[in-house]
Amino acid sequence: MPAERRNIVFIVAHPDDVAAAMAGTAHLLAQRYRTHVFCATQGERGLPGRDPHETAALRVREEQAACDLLGASLHFLGLMDAEVYAERRVCESLAEELRRLDPAAAFCQWPLDFHPDHAATSEIARKALHLSGCKAELYMGETFPGQQTANFHPDIYVDVSRLAGVIEAAVRCHVCQNPEDRLLLPALQWRRFRGAEARLQLAEGFKTLLPSQASSYAVLRDLTGAAPRAA
Ligand SMILES: [Zn+2]
Repeated sequence: MPAERRNIVFIVAHPDDVAAAMAGTAHLLAQRYRTHVFCATQGERGLPGRDPHETAALRVREEQAACDLLGASLHFLGLMDAEVYAERRVCESLAEELRRLDPAAAFCQWPLDFHPDHAATSEIARKALHLSGCKAELYMGETFPGQQTANFHPDIYVDVSRLAGVIEAAVRCHVCQNPEDRLLLPALQWRRFRGAEARLQLAEGFKTLLPSQASSYAVLRDLTGAAPRAA
């Protein structure tokens, strides 16, 4: 791999969030960049009634398999599932990592999300990016629109029409979270919905900080051929 490839980071709350929300985009970006997934937690409470340590071990293995498939390195922020807060320690520690990676872009979750871990992890990502001083482009993705993410109207769409197989494989790495494809089916459904908005078969939508962040948003513009529209 050429040494000059820049880094891209995905900062999410749980194992399975990248696969469910932005697997197609992660796959496309891995062709041009070194990609890194940061999970705030190991999804310890994802299997109610089961031992959290056992659940974490299982979900770390599943997330590692998904990251291997998507060509991304995997990192954890060491927080507990369902107890994510944008505390100073974790924001500063992630800022240190971001300074080291100097990413061209950071992808995180949309702050208006009914899952409090998603909302808090979005805050951690944005605060850490600010503390790091990095000039990364910031993109925010959605998770389960209508159930978790609220008021999300994409500024830019990534065409993932040809990547249904990649998305399915990435989501299906999360076996314990996907009985009867209950994670995969809505993930495909909302990509079809975003695709219809963008006149594509399947799309992943992202919010930017336009117009307040003066940025060309070159990372996704180069990927999609389209500049994000100003909100
Ligand atoms: Zn999640």
